[in-house]
This record gives sequence, C-alpha cells and structure tokens, in this order.
Amino acid sequence: MKTTAAVLWDVGKPWAIEEVELDEPRDGEVLIRFVAAGLCHSDEHLRHGDLVPRFPIVGGHEGAGIIEAVGPGVTRVKPGDHVVCSFIPSCGHCRWCSTGQQNLCDMGATILEGSMPDGTFRFHARGQDLGAMCMLGTFARYSVIPQNSCVVIDPDIPLEVAVLVGCGVPTGWGSAVYAARVAPGDTVVIYGIGGIGINAVQGAAHAGARHVIAVDPLANKREKAEELGATHSVATAEEAREIAMRLTRGVGADKAIVTVDIVNEEVVQAAFDVIRKGGTMVLTGLADPAKKTVHLSGAVMTLYQKEVRGTLFGHSNPMYDIRKLLDLYRDGQLKLDELVTRRYRLEEINQGYEDLLAGKNVRGVIIHEH
Ligand SMILES: [Zn+2]
Ligand SMILES: [Zn+2]
Repeated sequence: MKTTAAVLWDVGKPWAIEEVELDEPRDGEVLIRFVAAGLCHSDEHLRHGDLVPRFPIVGGHEGAGIIEAVGPGVTRVKPGDHVVCSFIPSCGHCRWCSTGQQNLCDMGATILEGSMPDGTFRFHARGQDLGAMCMLGTFARYSVIPQNSCVVIDPDIPLEVAVLVGCGVPTGWGSAVYAARVAPGDTVVIYGIGGIGINAVQGAAHAGARHVIAVDPLANKREKAEELGATHSVATAEEAREIAMRLTRGVGADKAIVTVDIVNEEVVQAAFDVIRKGGTMVLTGLADPAKKTVHLSGAVMTLYQKEVRGTLFGHSNPMYDIRKLLDLYRDGQLKLDELVTRRYRLEEINQGYEDLLAGKNVRGVIIHEH
C-alpha cells in the first residue's frame, strides 16, 4: 500500500513529506494506523547529526494507533486493538527481558538502523529502502512494526494523550522513580525541563520528594515545572546549587537528574557537585556518542561515595510501565493533557521542531489525518 511519511534523507536536510510504499506485515509483524505521534527531541537529533542513523529514515518513535492487520504468527495483538508503541521492543525471553530489564532488550540493537531485525525494510521510496526510526516510523500515517513493539491499552484512553507514554513520560518518570530511586523526604535537582525533565519532576514529586528543584533558563518551562510538582524553579545550575545547599543545611541534594536536550560537561559537573555524600546522579539526556561528556574527579567519587548512573527509558519495563502510567493518568495522579503545548498536522512537522528548538513546547504532538 501507499502512505504518507516524514522522511529524513540526510543530516541537515529538512523533514520531507512524501508518499512512500509500505510492504505487507511479515512473520510477527503488524500493520498499524497511527493516530498520533510525539515530537521527541531524539528524532531531531538524527537531523542534526547528534545521533547518526542509516539514511534515509522515516522518523518518529512516539506513536499510538490502532492495529489494522496482523502478519503470520502474531499472538500479542489483534486487529482493532489500541496500542501505544514502545520505542524499544521487548521480545520477552532474551537475558534482559527475562530479568526485568525490558528496556535493554536485545531487539533494540537495530533501532537506529531502522531495519527489521533480519535487516529488511518495509518502507520504500525513490527506488530506495527506508528505515523506520526505532522500527516504528510514527511520522507515517501507516506503518508495519514488530508485535514486540506493541503495548495494548484500554480503548477508553484517548490515543492523542496515550502517545506520550511511549517515550518521554516513562523516561522522565522512571529516571526519578527507578533510576534515581527518589525516596520520601529527598531533595532532588532536575536539569532541563523538556518532554523528559517535566516527567522527572512528576516522578520525583510522586515518589515523595520533599524538595524538587527544577532548572531551566526558560520561564515557560519553570512555570510548567511548578505547576506539575516542582517546589522551586531556577534559571541556572548555580542558583540550584545555592538553594539545594540552603535547604539541606550544606549537605547537598540526595539526587540529581540530567534531562537537558544536549548533555555537556558543565551540566554533568554541576549535577555531580550538587549531590551529597552517597548521593546519586542520573544521566538521561543524550549527546553525540563520539563526544566525551563525563569528566569527573574519581577521587571525589570514591571519597564521597557518589554514584553516577546512565539510564535508558528511565529503567522502565515498557510492557508494565506504559499501562501503569496510563492507570495513574486515569486516576489523576499523573498529568498528561497538561504536557501538550501544541498539536500539528504531519505537514507542519518542520514547524513543530522549530518550536521545540525555540523552547516553546514542552511536548508537540502530530495528529495524523486519515
Ligand atoms: Zn523519545
Ligand atoms: Zn528481549
């Protein structure tokens, strides 16, 4: 069949909206009609060369939609199911899946390559094979994806909202709750309030933190942070340090979480310095993988017993956490509607990312037209 998609042909090129050819689902794959797609910074990282995929690639790894058809051997979903896509598939039986670390599933190996695990592609255009970001390509109206990327959700939850729990929300919430292990009474500093950081704020507040200090240079982000659970918000890391030291009588924050759009040495140093003896710093944001962004004193790490942890998907297990977060949303304990700054048509995707880069959006969402 034919469908419309936003394609990146090379680094630095704008998103190109074009008609692409889509193959039938093969063994273990499904045809999905996407209803909504989130504008996450990671797709734009591909365009800027901060992450280098195989080009050309159909973008989009936050998606929610309805299963239209299933290929042979599909048992996990059926036509009509409402689904949130997990940007990391989970096979269910690799070493990582079978030990409660679905976020590290071996099937994640090809998510930047954009091919299916066997190296073949389902999108084609201009005589070439097109990858699909994270094997999803949610910036297409229809896609063929592995059943292992599908999390079935209750049909009463609007897909336009549920789309957010495919990446940004669990990554941020889990960075606080699971990776940083925020505990009741903790003082937590969160650097960078975008689509991830705002959910680290929600997670930290939810986990019972006494002080949640949100750091962002933009006033609209600080306001949003205070609306969703931050007790303090400041423009600079220096101010955050002063407040954290004052609130803890010079001891330092218990946890620091780095969710800035592009990680650099300065923010890593600031987060490392703000935590107390035995404190934990969590690194969630991305940077060019070839760049060394963590340069810290090993002696301070040892003598102050500080812990530095990387986290992917906030240590969340997609099959469990995506549904759990939607339950919390239904109960009013997790805010999702408030995260969406603006909705766009697929054709407006370049505008959407311009707005993201200009700091206007906490989260922009594409609503697919069918
Ligand atoms: Zn993402
Ligand atoms: Zn697995």
